[in-house]
Amino acid sequence: MPESEWVLLVRYSEIHLKGLNKPFFERKLIEAIKAVLSDMDVVIKKAQGRVYVHGLALTDIELAISRLKKVFGIHSVSPALAVDATWNTIVEAAYTLFADALKEKSSASFKVIARRADKSFALSSDEINRQLGGLLITRFPELFVDVHIPSIRLGVEIREYAFLYIREVRCAGGMPVGSSGQAALLLSGGIDSPVAGFLVAKRGVTLCAIHFLSPPYTSERARDKVEALTKILSAYTGQIRLHLVPFTQIQLLIHENCRPNETVLLMRRMMMRIAERIAASEGALALVTGEAIGQVASQTMESLIVTNEVVKMPVLRPLIGFDKQEIIEYAKAIGSYETSILPYEDCCTVFVPRHPLTRPVLSKLVESEAQFDYNKAIEDALNNTKVVTINRHLDYSPQA
Ligand code: ATP
Ligand code: MG
Repeated sequence: MPESEWVLLVRYSEIHLKGLNKPFFERKLIEAIKAVLSDMDVVIKKAQGRVYVHGLALTDIELAISRLKKVFGIHSVSPALAVDATWNTIVEAAYTLFADALKEKSSASFKVIARRADKSFALSSDEINRQLGGLLITRFPELFVDVHIPSIRLGVEIREYAFLYIREVRCAGGMPVGSSGQAALLLSGGIDSPVAGFLVAKRGVTLCAIHFLSPPYTSERARDKVEALTKILSAYTGQIRLHLVPFTQIQLLIHENCRPNETVLLMRRMMMRIAERIAASEGALALVTGEAIGQVASQTMESLIVTNEVVKMPVLRPLIGFDKQEIIEYAKAIGSYETSILPYEDCCTVFVPRHPLTRPVLSKLVESEAQFDYNKAIEDALNNTKVVTINRHLDYSPQA
């Protein structure tokens, strides 16, 4: 293809550690890359542990990078100048990159980092570093070498073509979605659960989502908020089926029949029972929540245990050891924070007692649950659950 062309050079995250299964992970990664660049006229190639995106319009490069940053399985991306692998073209390409990089600088330290994957190329990696470094200093007197902490790193990879780059953009890491089965995320409108979903998806897990709403105590806008959060997540995960479960009847039954300090935990137990049924119907293998030990009364060790007790499915809690502040930083980084803090009511904020239990006794909760026919209420909730399919939203930014 080149004489000279801009390509995106995509580096794998953990996939290179895989043995015999590597082709499977590579296929999933390429599928994900194709999905986020489907509206651009590109050719995607795989060679020696890298993926190359050819054919990008110059004006699409930044947009393509911003999308690839959200593809799990990618460690980093570099916009690279691809040229024929001859010495003269390599030197010319290096001059072009530096002329641009030095535009607003009076001096800069640099280092050349060559990798000769094609051993038939006449110069070794070390010789390329030294000779190209020398030529660059002659051409740009404002440059000086610093091999330890250079401000500019010129990467040169000699393969089928030579790829030269200065920028290396860190991406989300992890493993391609679709490589590790499916889980069902209990998605509230809060800060924690979107981050929990992000972290599980990062390990290659496909997500479906479940939200409990309590109309008329929760409004349409609370529902819009959870849809917006699902759209934000979908940029990373691809399509998400969002199950909207009417929870009002169950909450009222609990409220009328049980001790006030138990209501939160009884609600949590009902949510888990319903979520497990929906997860099974979706083919999901686990539930995911945004709980962290001790964050609120319903998340003490004792509370988590009685919540867990009603389901057989594993419950993944990726935030279990995180501080709130750490979770907030994640939420900001993935882009969900601003939406999560919008002030619409959540079903858990309706009917909350002033003094919820922190050291629940399981037998007492079970006794309370025997006061009403929750099985029927659960069937009703499941029968009235609505599913919204949220397709992958690229470049989505919710209106605050
Ligand atoms: P978040 O910030 O995710 O709302 P939280 O700190 O407010 O979490 P809780 O309200 O106790 O904690 O909820 C604990 C977890 O239970 C949530 O992280 C979420 O996974 C799930 N959950 C709570 N409310 C709902 C809801 N209305 N719909 C779906 N899942 C919910
Ligand atoms: Mg919450």
